[in-house]
Amino acid sequence: MKYHIWTAGCQMNVADSQRVASALERLGYTASADIEQADVIVLNTCVVRQSAEDKAYGRLQSLKPLKARNPDLVINLMGCLVGVKDNPRLREVFPHVDVFSPPSDPSPLIEHLLLKDAHDVDRAETERRHAIMDGELQLPREQRGRTVSAFIPVVYGCSHACSYCVIPYRRGVEYSRPLAEVVAEVRALVRQDVREVTLLGQIVDRYGKDFDNGETLSTLLRAVHAVEGIQRIRFLTSHPNWMNAELLDTVAELPKVCEHIEVPVQAGDDEILRRMKRGYSVGDYRRLIDRIRDRIPNTSIATDIIVGFPGETEAQFRRTYDLLDELRLDVAHLARYSPRPDTVSARRMPDDVPEEEKMRRFRALETLQAEIATEINAGYRDRTVEVLVEEKHRGRWKGRTRTNKLVFFDSEADLLGKLVPVRVEWSGPWSLIASPVDIAQVHADLPTP
Ligand code: SAM
Repeated sequence: MKYHIWTAGCQMNVADSQRVASALERLGYTASADIEQADVIVLNTCVVRQSAEDKAYGRLQSLKPLKARNPDLVINLMGCLVGVKDNPRLREVFPHVDVFSPPSDPSPLIEHLLLKDAHDVDRAETERRHAIMDGELQLPREQRGRTVSAFIPVVYGCSHACSYCVIPYRRGVEYSRPLAEVVAEVRALVRQDVREVTLLGQIVDRYGKDFDNGETLSTLLRAVHAVEGIQRIRFLTSHPNWMNAELLDTVAELPKVCEHIEVPVQAGDDEILRRMKRGYSVGDYRRLIDRIRDRIPNTSIATDIIVGFPGETEAQFRRTYDLLDELRLDVAHLARYSPRPDTVSARRMPDDVPEEEKMRRFRALETLQAEIATEINAGYRDRTVEVLVEEKHRGRWKGRTRTNKLVFFDSEADLLGKLVPVRVEWSGPWSLIASPVDIAQVHADLPTP
């Protein structure tokens, strides 16, 4: 029995799909790269922008002939297109879908598959089912021993309700995973050769706000840091309002926590920020960037920006442009505003910036950011940096610096999962090319066969 998973959207969806794959493999399914060969197809969807939603509908339509040919095929629609509330319209429009699963929840699919063979359900099967729900995360077979870096959801859902964002409606209220559960998962992943974890949340720096035991993201980072065998820790995405001194101190103090902060600004104009309901001003964000840079020298900082928010004037856009130019951040994830169902902005604010204008603003920021990234990355040239090697890509090793810069280099040695010092020889806006140094030391670390 084979399964195929299609994943769209954010890192949270990547982590969710990994969980589904893990649960399916516990039931005896194996992965198939060929969708046509699969007995179970999972579409893990994103609706953060209309274009992502359209892609999901396109995929769903393309499965109709497969289902018509093979009525036993199980189609599972998962993720933000489904959401946390029952959605009878989706069931009506896509009768060829067998199972609808909310984000992060593999159990509807697993229950369906178990019930499908209900006559066989015996005690062994029930025990197996409990193992899936409670057990440690087992990486899907084809990823085991090859996955160096893994995503771990630590905050599910979101309760912030930015006026443009559909996530709270689809992923439900904010909920932090118990610290012990996260640590157990990190340990399990280390046993499967994972060396780096990225702790995920829509607003990850709100970790623990729903507990009454005082635990915070800093507490969690310290606990994960203590896990033997884990070499690097990252976390994303942070909200500016929750990046407090305790968190910055923790990042600065813990050697395994990388100098890499993802903290979206979304706009460089106070009136737009107010209408986005972001809860901070441009001045607050500017001061935060200063505090981050003071406390964690040489950190890389990534931001998210939306252009063409309802009512955004040329002058307001210009302020965003100027802010990006001034702050010189490493990465800017850019998006053109897209009205999403149920959101405050879609209900109350006309989407009045024409598409061509949104595109022009997007391109202007894209060009600016490429220049900034080129300049920042040129500073890496002739420097030795430590790379955690993630995979071989077109014959070259590919890994990341602590600051999350993509690095490619050549070596005959098997360096998967190793921390390798490399000297940067070439830099571009999106990646670096390097050559390994001190390779003898690296060889000495390799386990003897
Ligand atoms: N929760 C994080 C935050 O905003 O602080 C980031 C996660 S969000 C799902 C990913 C990004 O998608 C956002 O930072 C935003 O830039 C973009 N985004 C969200 N809603 C959007 C919309 N309606 N139109 C365009 N981009 C959007």
